[in-house]
Amino acid sequence: MTQLVRIRPMRRDSDAGAPATVDATEAGAGRVYLETFGCQMNEADSALIAGQLGHAGYERVEDPAQADVILINTCAIREKAEDRVWGRTSQLLQHARTNPALVIGITGCMAEHLRDKVAARAPYIRLVAGPDSYRGIAGLVARARAGERVVDVKLDRSETYEGLDGVPDDDGVSGQVTIQRGCDKFCSFCVVPYTRGRERAVPAPEVLRAVRRLAEAGYREVVLLGQTVNSYRDGDIDFATLLRAVATVDGIARVRFTSPYPRDMSDALIEVMASEPTIMPQLHLPLQSGADAVLARMGRGYGRDEYLALVERLRAAIPGLALSTDLMVGFCGETEDDHAQTLSLMREVRFDSAFMFRYSDRGVTQAARKLVDDVDDETKGRRLREVIELQEQHTRASHDAQVGRRVPVLVGALARRGDRLLGRTPQGHNALLPLGSAERGAIIEVIVTESTGHSLVAQPVVAAERAHAVNEDAP
Ligand code: SF4
Repeated sequence: MTQLVRIRPMRRDSDAGAPATVDATEAGAGRVYLETFGCQMNEADSALIAGQLGHAGYERVEDPAQADVILINTCAIREKAEDRVWGRTSQLLQHARTNPALVIGITGCMAEHLRDKVAARAPYIRLVAGPDSYRGIAGLVARARAGERVVDVKLDRSETYEGLDGVPDDDGVSGQVTIQRGCDKFCSFCVVPYTRGRERAVPAPEVLRAVRRLAEAGYREVVLLGQTVNSYRDGDIDFATLLRAVATVDGIARVRFTSPYPRDMSDALIEVMASEPTIMPQLHLPLQSGADAVLARMGRGYGRDEYLALVERLRAAIPGLALSTDLMVGFCGETEDDHAQTLSLMREVRFDSAFMFRYSDRGVTQAARKLVDDVDDETKGRRLREVIELQEQHTRASHDAQVGRRVPVLVGALARRGDRLLGRTPQGHNALLPLGSAERGAIIEVIVTESTGHSLVAQPVVAAERAHAVNEDAP
């Protein structure tokens, strides 16, 4: 069906002359399959892409075999992440056998990182679009479908996607709002400033508009996203001010944010977290290494003692705070003693959970250009195993400590197996609930009855109390 959709004029040079009104048939409306790799920023970007393609008349499908266009929104943060994407694109290529007109494209950080090299490695990929290309994604897809090989990876220092609303693939309860794009920190190991460009703040009124829109759509929780989310600044409005405003939006019961940059955790921000009851006691605070020498080579801007002091301030101000982190082993020059310091810091802080990786050379970064990747693969692998084993103990202990507690959980979608509901505690633990415990979006009191080590099993308080009474009555 022909459908006229108004879209905003496209802004980039490559799109110059594109009409403000696009006939969906001209734009190549059809079915799109969208798959996301990487972080929550990428999930939010996929929602943006889905929104833009939806405006152009595309229908999103769950099955790649049904698609006219397959887009893979990618991550380049580690070599392994890129390897996974290559593996997945060659799997998806099978659909081109039955549908020779199929367009396969990659978007996101890997598109930006590899640019023209994608064609050499995978000539079947017809569209390569970077993280600042989504406003005009429908036009780019149309060109690829018309037979052109499209590479659009120009970074745009002003693009914040203001005014665009995404179509997220989420549970309708917890929504994400990107408040900042890019990063100015240039940690020596990190490819993000090169793939996502310089830091830009989404204007505060636009952030609040997006949050209110989620609330009106029935969402109860909002997660504010940014690469260094607490470095946010829009004129006089810093992150602490913005967070307080978001925390008081009608209808939003829970607020989280990720990922903060440790050095920018101001006293004002900690005070807002401590005083606003809708801000959940959960923080992902990337550490990377417990050794000063490694942190200095990484250019993180803090040392071990400063990080520990920050954890102490946070825990003193926010009782019950759950802390998660990122840990990287095998960075350039990391010694056994440096590694031991990471393990000892982990024992000291006892993170509730962590993302753990081995360092990989990303080509364009300062580390790749100026430092030597001198920790061999075997040592990296062993150190990673040691870090994972220790964290598993701490994660299990964190979950086990919840057993017997009475906590309010926000009820979300069905769990993966479909036989339970998934709830989320204030600390961010997943809690499996019996079907029918409550409506999606409700916040209910539960008693945690069991820990599986990675998630919790819980009963609504009323049901749990009734079962307890029945047990006591039993002969
Ligand atoms: S703060 Fe450092 S690690 Fe985080 S995105 Fe920016 S450069 Fe990368």
